[in-house]
Amino acid sequence: MYQLTAEDRELQDRARRFVDDLFPYEEEAEANGGHLPADVAAAMRTRAKEEGLLATNISRDLGGGGCSMLQQVLVQEQVGRATNALAWMLSTPPQWWVPVATEHQRERWLRPTVAGEAGECYAITEEHAGSDVSAIEATARREGDEYVLDGVKWHVTSYNEATYAFFQGRLTDGPHAGDHAMFVVDLPSPGVRVVRTPAYSHTIAHHHPIVAFEQVRVPATHLVGEEGGGMTYAYEWFRFERFMVAARCLGATERLIDEATRFARERIVSGSPIIEFQLVQAMLADSATELFAGRSMLYEAARGVDEGRDRKVQHGQASMAKLFASETANRVADRAVQIFGGRGYMRENVAERFFRELRVERIWEGTSEIQRVIVAAQLAKRGIGAIA
Ligand SMILES: Cc1cc2nc3c(=O)[nH]c(=O)nc-3n(C[C@H](O)[C@H](O)[C@H](O)COP(=O)(O)OP(=O)(O)OC[C@H]3O[C@@H](n4cnc5c(N)ncnc54)[C@H](O)[C@@H]3O)c2cc1C
Repeated sequence: MYQLTAEDRELQDRARRFVDDLFPYEEEAEANGGHLPADVAAAMRTRAKEEGLLATNISRDLGGGGCSMLQQVLVQEQVGRATNALAWMLSTPPQWWVPVATEHQRERWLRPTVAGEAGECYAITEEHAGSDVSAIEATARREGDEYVLDGVKWHVTSYNEATYAFFQGRLTDGPHAGDHAMFVVDLPSPGVRVVRTPAYSHTIAHHHPIVAFEQVRVPATHLVGEEGGGMTYAYEWFRFERFMVAARCLGATERLIDEATRFARERIVSGSPIIEFQLVQAMLADSATELFAGRSMLYEAARGVDEGRDRKVQHGQASMAKLFASETANRVADRAVQIFGGRGYMRENVAERFFRELRVERIWEGTSEIQRVIVAAQLAKRGIGAIA
């Protein structure tokens, strides 16, 4: 199916087996702030590396898997099948950085990240700048061979696990005054502090604190790419992540349908398995249909990247895939809770956990509304032929 090659299937199966082995730890993780037992986490990290499941999005010369976009999607789809973000350990380092990273940056941050020995987080969003990234107020001021960074960043995912942050700020002076620039900031660094760590709906080990950067001094060698390039890199990251979000959402959708179907076959109500009730059948049939549609769309969009399709087309299709997959996953989670009945409202139930966890997929990496705005803007500028 889906015209996958033998190599694609082998990679998909390897990732599937890896993620299957995390399922027994989900309930414990839910009760434990999203954490795996330390020995299990260490063993799985080693296994991920040995099985070539880390950094599928990075070229082999930098130590990554050198996978096609379709293959990256296949792996992240499996990642999405586990709750509590347990499979996030199959990380995808910042591939957008590779073409603009200096030799110093490659050796100091990129290679260790690809090897799983370092990890990044993104400090872009602010209290008054989320969907509209151009509204950020954080600043970057050049002083001799250094930049001085100031700003308060929100929802900094994985800050508690990261060894460095990408900080986006507005240049205060120079030829690019007012433009955005991105910097690498080692963690911890003087002047970087957690303001607070709010609780979120999901239970995962990666926190999303509000982080203040106060007079943080970094050498000019920490500038990513060029002054004024900040928005370009953020958009590259968004485009890539939209594929990965779509993939993880479809993995979650598959797991939910699988679990709900198994339950519906076994659960006897009024003398019949509930899968014989047509109202339950409709929920499962709609869910399976939407999974098939979402997967066909995502794989086609991923193939477009591999074939070098026009970047604007890629951009529009990434948005459509993210929009459709994230909304599908949320609908399917809602139906799965319904099929499980009272059990579906218990935290020990996979549908309950996904019901909470999947909600953010319609918000981060661009809300569903922003994806629609992107798709409609492409239509307005270039017509239907340009994106569909
Ligand atoms: C759990 C979590 C983790 C996150 N991790 C990170 C991270 O690691 N790094 C980071 O930098 N950011 C992160 N974010 C931020 C995330 O990307 C933003 O929350 C998201 O882009 C939306 O921005 P906002 O919350 O400011 O909402 P707003 O931009 O204030 O939007 C509010 C509402 O208005 C709607 N809206 C806005 N503009 C339009 C428009 N033009 N047309 C129609 N409707 C519109 C939105 O869709 C939304 O419904 C994270 C967020 C969450 C919740």
